[in-house]
Amino acid sequence: MRYDTLIRNALIIDGGNRPGYPADLAIHDGRIQRIGELAGATAVQDIDAAGRVLAPGFIDVHTHDDTVVIRQPQMLPKLSQGVTTVIVGNCGISAAPVSLKGDPPDPMNLLGERSMFVYPRFRDYRTAVDAARPAVNVAALVGHTALRSNHLTDLYRTASVDEITAMREQLRESLEDGALGLSSGLAYASAFAADTDEVLQLAQELTAFGAVYTTHLRSEFEPVLEAMDEAFFIARAAKVPVIISHLKCAGAGNWGRSPQLLAALEQAAREHPVGCDCYPYAASSSTLDLKQVTEAYPITITWSTPHPEQDGRDLNAIASDWGLGLLAAAERLQPAGAVYHGMDENDVRRILAHPLSMIGSDGLPEDPFPHPRLWGAFPRVLGHFSRDLGLFPLHTAVHKMTGLCAARFGLQQRGEIREGHWADLVLFDPARVRDLADFKHPQQAAEGIDGVWVNGVCSYVEGQASGQRMGRFLPRHGDLSRGFNSAD
Ligand SMILES: [Zn+2]
Repeated sequence: MRYDTLIRNALIIDGGNRPGYPADLAIHDGRIQRIGELAGATAVQDIDAAGRVLAPGFIDVHTHDDTVVIRQPQMLPKLSQGVTTVIVGNCGISAAPVSLKGDPPDPMNLLGERSMFVYPRFRDYRTAVDAARPAVNVAALVGHTALRSNHLTDLYRTASVDEITAMREQLRESLEDGALGLSSGLAYASAFAADTDEVLQLAQELTAFGAVYTTHLRSEFEPVLEAMDEAFFIARAAKVPVIISHLKCAGAGNWGRSPQLLAALEQAAREHPVGCDCYPYAASSSTLDLKQVTEAYPITITWSTPHPEQDGRDLNAIASDWGLGLLAAAERLQPAGAVYHGMDENDVRRILAHPLSMIGSDGLPEDPFPHPRLWGAFPRVLGHFSRDLGLFPLHTAVHKMTGLCAARFGLQQRGEIREGHWADLVLFDPARVRDLADFKHPQQAAEGIDGVWVNGVCSYVEGQASGQRMGRFLPRHGDLSRGFNSAD
């Protein structure tokens, strides 16, 4: 038979945390048809991949791409990194199900302005994704803060019994329509007033579906261990798996504590399905939070509604231009976004290297001057952290962005290179792959990503999108707790 595509002589790193092996791979009808020695086979497209690695397409488990997959479906910041699937709806904020009464509350504004929230039901979002045909696959969580904004008259208190009932109904309907689970963003003022019981009652809705709970912890600063305990308590009480989002030690007073956090994570994982994601940088980014304004480390402004001329500038420099203190300058910039250089590199490396951590970019596609993780997270792990620093072998780096992620989120027949699986693939040069996006020039495609296939179709080649957009919506499948086990 004549295949659609043959990729010959690649080093196949299959996503299962195993060293690579040389082989040919044939793609047909969107699937990986054959792996092996295929010298006699023919194909419409025949590629010699000698010297390069063929890996499963990367799965970005932590994104805020909810509306951008519809508005800018070419998805170049992700496709150019080798990402073939994004998980949206993290940190308590999702585009659906949402019915806004006014402007989106902070931090839902990270997903776009009011006019972009047009999905009152989860299934409306799902339909819109499929209609937009993004270049990458999309799976989605439902945000706790999004549910709160639908049903609470005041976000700065805990929900009433009736409000919890209404939120549970809307969550249940979303789970029936294919949502992966529930995310929370308890550190943000718009969810901080929710008590543990409010979140637990929502998490209990996940149990019957085998869905997952992910959480941007109530604190990533000094009380981070207590915040992790709250997450584990909710997950155990509701009998659902939990993923700690972008695990970190935030704030100068917290540096060096990653061994404690990782010990707590390991301890919890012995008794319960537990995991985490992280991004490979010592700086975070979100809306500009007055509580996080400090002189202890630099803060860069990524956007400001009243002062767009300050995008990309240091808060310190803005404050001194204006003859104001940092806090007063930050107040004048609101609403705004920021990059906080508030982590210690050693903590970042320990968390990245831990067997329970997956890679998620947490990129913010709306930012005019985004954190470089939006364009660089995955190549940075492959090039800088694996190859250049030797933090872990290349096959472990790949596992953290493919097989591990697909298992955790139940993405069937993806995340590993196997015959019969969907042909989501990335071909890269292990010697050249590297992130070019940095804090000064954050919007640059990586080097060394030579080809990306989504559902069997070449979608990115030679530094360009091919124009083919083959992504689809991926509904939840099966009991997600099965994808957690202590073996990895
Ligand atoms: Zn977050």
